[in-house]
Amino acid sequence: MSDWKTRTKLIHAGARRSQYGEMSEAIFLTQGFVYDSAGQAEARFIEAGPDEFIYARYGNPTVRMFEERMAAIEGTEDAFATASGMAAVNGALTALLRAGDHVVSARALFGSCLYVLEILARFGVEVTFVDGTDEGQWRAAVRPGTKALFLETVSNPTLEVVDIAAVAAIGHDVGATVIVDNVFATPTFSKAVALGADVVVYSATKHIDGSGRCLGGVVCGSRAFVRKVLEPYLKHTGAALSPFNAWVMLKGLETLDLRVRQQAATALAVARALEDHPKLARVIYPGLPAHPRHGLAMAQMGSGGTVVTFEVAGGQAAAFRLLDALRIVKISNNLGDAKSIITHPATTTHQRLPAEQKAALGITPGLVRLSLGLEDEADILADLRQALDRV
Ligand SMILES: *Cc1c(COP(=O)(O)O)cnc(C)c1O
Repeated sequence: MSDWKTRTKLIHAGARRSQYGEMSEAIFLTQGFVYDSAGQAEARFIEAGPDEFIYARYGNPTVRMFEERMAAIEGTEDAFATASGMAAVNGALTALLRAGDHVVSARALFGSCLYVLEILARFGVEVTFVDGTDEGQWRAAVRPGTKALFLETVSNPTLEVVDIAAVAAIGHDVGATVIVDNVFATPTFSKAVALGADVVVYSATKHIDGSGRCLGGVVCGSRAFVRKVLEPYLKHTGAALSPFNAWVMLKGLETLDLRVRQQAATALAVARALEDHPKLARVIYPGLPAHPRHGLAMAQMGSGGTVVTFEVAGGQAAAFRLLDALRIVKISNNLGDAKSIITHPATTTHQRLPAEQKAALGITPGLVRLSLGLEDEADILADLRQALDRV
């Protein structure tokens, strides 16, 4: 299986069949598992074998299929699935860190990821924030004993591209675990592990589900990290992925590559078509040569991804007029969906942040984030153009 190409792994990796030989992955909608004897129960609590399960908070056959498929795609030894992307981010960080530990994190993060780091600071973890695109700041911030580096690439919503290989090398020099929140790169474009990331975290809610149905998350890493560091924390704190949601994610993975490549092609077409639009102050898309880290994005992902961010000239009122005039593109705060979705981060996903912090992150009043879906590119462009005409 390890020599299969990603598209083959997306369909077949991790599959387990029951005695019925079902073609489609089965949903094992069960919390518990029956033991043949008291002795077997005891033995399983001491050490569960690969096909042995104890309780769905610890693991479940359908969830295990999803975990093994994700590990195979990402190129890690193992993975642990969680109830949401945030449970995965929180699990990866909190399982690893203790009071007195030091973490360096990129500043440009999803709002809830910032909140998790604030909670850790409350429990005595020291957090240093840096400009993720400035390797000098990473190098200056780490010190012997720095326990973890955390970054999102591409970042939400300003699409900053962090050089994973450079940052991983800086982290490894001081023995830190390098954790990448990889939602925007998607498993299709990710080379995070090959570039040096130790742990890769996904919100499966986004492209992996791909149809806006279920919450889910997954942490991919070495067997030692997943089983010795992460699993004890997650299995006792209860952020387990539901078997039904794991099944939805497995089905999502089967079409992930096709969907994400199509969405990225539409994103590039939209970014190109709107790049010089008079109603837009700027268009941010890593796939455009004008992006400050275009070369790095292409080397690191081979694509600009499925999200385009732009700044509407005229601030929040103009941005709201654009959102309200759209007919096909929906106003919502998810991304990676089959439906194109537009978000105004300053008043929704990043509303909580103080004005200065928003400004420092480039989350201006006119900024909007557009996640491209699977609609016809011509219809999406026509919708955006008619809405921009009304701004
Ligand atoms: C959505 C998102 C998350 C959180 O995922 P949920 O499944 O909503 O909990 C974390 N990081 C990034 C970059 C995201 O886009």
